[in-house]
Amino acid sequence: MLQQTQVKKVLEYYQEFIRRFPNIQRLAKADLQEVLKAWEKMGYYARARNLHKAARMIVQEMNGEIPVDYARFHKLPGVGDYIAAAVQSLAFDKPFPVLDGNVKRVISRLFLIESSLNTPTVARSLKVRTSELLDRDRPGLFNQAMMELGAVVCRPRKPICRACPVPSLCQAYQKGRQNHIPMITKAKPVPTHHIACGVIFKDNQILITQRNSSGLLGGLWEFPGGKVRPGETPEQACVREVKEEVNLSVEIVEPLTRVKHAYTHFRIVLDVFRCRYHSGEVALRGPADYRWIRINEIDKYPFPGATHKFIPLLVGQGRPD
Ligand code: SF4
Repeated sequence: MLQQTQVKKVLEYYQEFIRRFPNIQRLAKADLQEVLKAWEKMGYYARARNLHKAARMIVQEMNGEIPVDYARFHKLPGVGDYIAAAVQSLAFDKPFPVLDGNVKRVISRLFLIESSLNTPTVARSLKVRTSELLDRDRPGLFNQAMMELGAVVCRPRKPICRACPVPSLCQAYQKGRQNHIPMITKAKPVPTHHIACGVIFKDNQILITQRNSSGLLGGLWEFPGGKVRPGETPEQACVREVKEEVNLSVEIVEPLTRVKHAYTHFRIVLDVFRCRYHSGEVALRGPADYRWIRINEIDKYPFPGATHKFIPLLVGQGRPD
């Protein structure tokens, strides 16, 4: 849960998640939709899908026990070097160094690494340095201390060196370079995509479609739509995308709203239209599934954050048009 997400945000979900899925067996038995619903609005849904898959693997192939072995644990879905090292050291006190962004910053300052931390050579060197420092008797405690040092004291900007337990070991501090390390690389500009989607009303029901289980927002539900092409109006894009995705002909009744939403690597501007069903039978090209639902059933399905921004507007709009 903590991948790419702050503790404060995770705490809003953690307790409820543990209440619903108190052990691996319960999580493995759950339907993926139930898990996604519990994860709704926290983002990065691949984490939920992987956690669910991992629970099933542990129950079906590993006797219900989390492997106390780096290589076997690393094979679980969603587990990379960082999670494997963190879980093996923090939970089982195995001697693996954890290298999150905070630890990388601390190490780069301790050893005065003045190049970008993103190159493979520097990444390797950070790993070697951290391994050398690792307290092999208390690796879990060491890793937590390093992460905490980076998060609380050796902060990205203005590290609080007077509160640091290791200034005498810190080459950056000794040379007065702590505010210049690590080197900041310029972030790439984030593109914005213009999307149009339609809330199609037919006989007191609306159409929702489910995204394929792999990829961004996989397994979540949404309203049919897609990117606005150059030279197209959002209305034209909505009608075209609905036809392409679900094979229905629709008419635009009115614009419902425009929402903006930011993902990690891009932003979207989403124009939402209220549409009237005109003709055709649903045939899917792209989505994994679809449902005609009443608006009061909308809470049963997990939707992405962008859709949640306009769901409240739909309430009370269940009449046929
Ligand atoms: Fe970070 Fe300052 Fe401590 Fe060096 S002395 S590790 S820069 S907090």
